[in-house]
Amino acid sequence: MLNSVKRVAIIGAGPSGMAALRAFKSAEKSGSEIPEVVCYEKQDDWG
Ligand SMILES: Cc1cc2nc3c(=O)[nH]c(=O)nc-3n(C[C@H](O)[C@H](O)[C@H](O)COP(=O)(O)OP(=O)(O)OC[C@H]3O[C@@H](n4cnc5c(N)ncnc54)[C@H](O)[C@@H]3O)c2cc1C
Repeated sequence: MLNSVKRVAIIGAGPSGMAALRAFKSAEKSGSEIPEVVCYEKQDDWG
C-alpha cells in the first residue's frame, strides 16, 4: 500500500508525528521505497 502513496503530510511534530517520521525513516533505511514526507508544526519547537 505504501508504494502507491506518493506524498504524505504529517500535521504536528508531537510524539505521534515524530513517531510517524521515525517509522518512515526506518522503512527507508531498511530498503523500502517511501513517499515524499512533509511535516508541519505550528509551534517553534518539535515535541
Ligand atoms: C498538562 C499535560 C501534562 C502531560 N504530562 C505527561 C507526562 O508527564 N507524561 C506523558 O507520557 N504524557 C503526558 N501528557 C500527555 C502527552 O502530552 C500526550 O499524550 C502527547 O503529547 C500526545 O502526542 P500527540 O503527538 O498525539 O499530540 P500533541 O503532543 O498534541 O502534538 C500535536 C502537535 O501538532 C501541532 N499542531 C496542531 N495543529 C496543527 C496545525 N494545524 N498545523 C501544524 N501543527 C499543528 C501542535 O503544535 C503539536 O505540536 C501530558 C499532557 C498534558 C496536557
